[in-house]
Amino acid sequence: MRYISTRGEAPALAFDDVLLAGLASDGGLYVPEAWPLFSLAELRALSGLAYPELACRVMLPFLGGAIAEGEFASLVREAYAGFDDERVVPLKRLGQGECLMELFHGPTLAFKDLALQLVGRLFDHVLERRGERVTIVGATSGDTGSAAIAACQGRASIDIFILHPHGRVSEIQRRQMTTVAAENVWNIAIEGSFDDCQDLVKGMFNDRPFREGLRLSAVNSINWARIMAQIPYYIWAALSLGGLERSIAFAVPTGNFGNVYAGYAAREMGLPVAQLIIGSNRNDILTRFFESGVMEIRAVEPTLSPSMDIQVSSNFERLLFDLLGRDGSRVKEAMANLRKEGHLELARADWQKTRPLFSSAMLDDEATLRAIAQVMRETGEFLDPHSVIGLVAGRRMRRDQSVPLVALLTAHPAKFPDAIARAIGRVPPVPARLQALAGLEEKYTILPNSLSEVEGFVRAALAKRNQG
Ligand SMILES: *Cc1c(COP(=O)(O)O)cnc(C)c1O
Repeated sequence: MRYISTRGEAPALAFDDVLLAGLASDGGLYVPEAWPLFSLAELRALSGLAYPELACRVMLPFLGGAIAEGEFASLVREAYAGFDDERVVPLKRLGQGECLMELFHGPTLAFKDLALQLVGRLFDHVLERRGERVTIVGATSGDTGSAAIAACQGRASIDIFILHPHGRVSEIQRRQMTTVAAENVWNIAIEGSFDDCQDLVKGMFNDRPFREGLRLSAVNSINWARIMAQIPYYIWAALSLGGLERSIAFAVPTGNFGNVYAGYAAREMGLPVAQLIIGSNRNDILTRFFESGVMEIRAVEPTLSPSMDIQVSSNFERLLFDLLGRDGSRVKEAMANLRKEGHLELARADWQKTRPLFSSAMLDDEATLRAIAQVMRETGEFLDPHSVIGLVAGRRMRRDQSVPLVALLTAHPAKFPDAIARAIGRVPPVPARLQALAGLEEKYTILPNSLSEVEGFVRAALAKRNQG
């Protein structure tokens, strides 16, 4: 198995190189040269397996032998051993053929743990074998930072520095990051905005001596391994709902298009998927695109579902690559236009290819609050403001009521108590993991919005650790 860049100019790489590279050298994203195919019989043979076993079998063809099967199986088992539900990804049936897939049982109570808990271990495994180390730097407005820290804490070959805007992330989010005691984790609170944090991270990557000296790396959502680790739960859900006699529709609250693209990958591998329904908030660039074939960038608006406050969804380029006939030069041109003009328009025939599979709907904050209240009335379930957008989009766009609808729940409701209190006047019960945070000591450093100060801090912290 080799991976090729969506922009057609970077060399094809093996799995372990793609893992460490993240972005391709031509600015594109890596995708498998060809999708591994599973027949219906091969998929059915996976039913009854525990989640880590199933996940291992689904992902194995993507490794192309870069990691030995037995070692990979242990890494996958370890990745999901810390989940607080032994099923890892429990499913809850509602009426009307609806089903909720709970992706929030990992250490930070958000679906990003499903991918990052494995990716952190894969990084460590490959680096250790090569005798190399990396320094991961990232900026967070809340959720991704804690999932990345949880994935990297205590890994021997990784140091991680996460920047967050001082005083501008919620208390839960800050505590999830700052109470991690591992010695390879540093939290930096920047006196500035999230954009300032992102600019500082970009600044570090653009500073070549710094980047190369410290071997900077990222575990962001374009990393192929993150997509790969999200494919198994689509197959898990379909098998859990029956023997694949019927195809299934999935409803996915979407930001960077990583989660729903993994559903697309599962279908390319042979899973009978009837519909992939995307939910977006007011930042509805994808909904407008799937309705019209035209992608138009607008300013990002803050909403109650902050992890979906995104304009250009980075993983969309992977779908675009297929829509444009896997022609890297066409992707390169389209992406350059999107960057320059804020506009990308597909030929009608190319856009039409998306119609049978993808649909999309938008819920603004008011509709999100009403939906949280409605779902509570109907089912007694607390849904967080991201997940509820997916479920309601699914209900709106579901074409065939005889096709089961699986709604992906991407965050535990207790992470968003304020929105839920606004919707229904009370807050969800707090799981043990979050309760425990209140008693732990926080560790973070406040720094000014200055690239030289931040770089100085990173250098000094690593030097000190290497001495000790
Ligand atoms: C990251 C995130 C999303 C968006 O997922 P993408 O893969 O970026 O589309 C949705 N909900 C929550 C809670 C998230 O953290």
